Amino acid sequence: MTDLTNLTLVEAREGLKAKKFTATELTKAHIAAVEAARGLNAYVLETPEVALAQAAASDEKLAKGEGGALEGLPLGIKDLFGTKGVRTTACSKIIGNFVPEYESTVTSQLFRDGAVMLGKLNNDEFAMGSSNETSAFGPVVNPFKPSGWDDAKAKAALSGDKKGLLVPGGSSGGSSAAVAANICLGATATDTGGSIRQPAAFTGTVGIKPTYGRCSRWGIVAFASSLDQAGPIAKTVKDCAALLRSMAGHDPKDSTSVDMPVPDFEAAVGKSVAGKTIGIPKEYRVDGMSAEIEALWAKGAQMLKDAGAKVVDVSLPHTKYALPAYYIVAPAEASSNLARYDGVRYGVREPGKDIIELYEKTRAAGFGREVKRRIMIGTYVLSAGYYDAYYLKAQKIRTLIKKDFEDVYAAGVDAILTPATPSAAFGIAQMAEADPVEMYLNDIFTVTVNMAGLPGLALPGGVDANGLPLGLQLIGRPFDEETLFSLGGVIEDQVGRVSAKRWW
Ligand code: GLN
Repeated sequence: MTDLTNLTLVEAREGLKAKKFTATELTKAHIAAVEAARGLNAYVLETPEVALAQAAASDEKLAKGEGGALEGLPLGIKDLFGTKGVRTTACSKIIGNFVPEYESTVTSQLFRDGAVMLGKLNNDEFAMGSSNETSAFGPVVNPFKPSGWDDAKAKAALSGDKKGLLVPGGSSGGSSAAVAANICLGATATDTGGSIRQPAAFTGTVGIKPTYGRCSRWGIVAFASSLDQAGPIAKTVKDCAALLRSMAGHDPKDSTSVDMPVPDFEAAVGKSVAGKTIGIPKEYRVDGMSAEIEALWAKGAQMLKDAGAKVVDVSLPHTKYALPAYYIVAPAEASSNLARYDGVRYGVREPGKDIIELYEKTRAAGFGREVKRRIMIGTYVLSAGYYDAYYLKAQKIRTLIKKDFEDVYAAGVDAILTPATPSAAFGIAQMAEADPVEMYLNDIFTVTVNMAGLPGLALPGGVDANGLPLGLQLIGRPFDEETLFSLGGVIEDQVGRVSAKRWW
């Protein structure tokens, strides 16, 4: 039999329906691939017994011609999603061995539709980071090898200190690496400032951050609640659309989730884009941007033009303030959300002579460096005396950023095309050991979309001279993910899939 892990989600779905293989066979193939890829450190918990039980139940349904839209399809779940009876840590020591008694709304919808869970995926601690190096479980390795490395050299580094190998992006680095390594058919992820799109760009995968309010945040460990959104990372645009359909929908338990019908996103892939107007924002042509990325961006625009779209120059004048404003708003909300981790209710507890000392010691031991940095920045910008100068100002900038997009859309633009990241994947330890601002600069093209609450799709635009994937980003009107899927389909048809060759 062919290797079932090479299939896309849609191909596997069709194969199951045509009874070419069973859900159990499909799941077993993936479990074996997960075990063989442990060096990548994409999974922080494997749940083969859960997966096999779910697959057996799916097989019963499929045999009767029943089952949901994702019946029998093995997925990976980012460890930020609360999973009932299955350890959920957000990759932080402070949450420890917490086993939720609840299921997040998004994962419960995936399971309702028949999905199979292979395990929990690694991420930056509390989703704070752009390289997956802040995880308490250690870094994840990008399935794409550094240029010039042969398999033996890469394998040796994998079992050693991993230095020189590439990061898969973050914070959803486990999700992007697992999809790229064919150790799940698709994965859940979250995006507060780029955590779906940047890892997708670094691994040749496709990820969408839907419009704020499209998916319920209920049961997902909170980072910055006004920015957080769940979404999928998948092998293709169509796979991504199929997953989002199950993940999306109104949830009375999250008052920010919107009560709107969920379209058949998959039907948008392959639809004509003739007559659509695509904006190219001049402010995204940042200093020091590589010629390769410029060229890729222009090529992407040409593909859409060839498909009948109109490409126009647009201006988003407040773009340059987005990154500093994001790094005020996000830590401010994080400092508030993370106040609950006190060592009393769950996770790590360091005893102290009184309750205050217990809090202090627990938080000192339980949080990693980057999380502590965010809590300190967040507390500072919210404190009396600095609130107006930082937090309030950042909120005003946020409104201006949102207005920039509204103006462009009001002028008739249907979607905006930008690069997804300013560079290809970098090396493990390369940025983590530098100034934290260097790491923050990775998010320059993605944070605006969260600040404005808009949908953003990242997909492969091609490869650089070293064969590493480079991503493009399509930004849409609120709740118009369908146009992004149609446009993404056009680019994907031209670029094809950017896949890693197995060496691990
Ligand atoms: N890299 C960004 C940060 O560290 C975004 C993270 C995310 O989207 N969760 O805040």
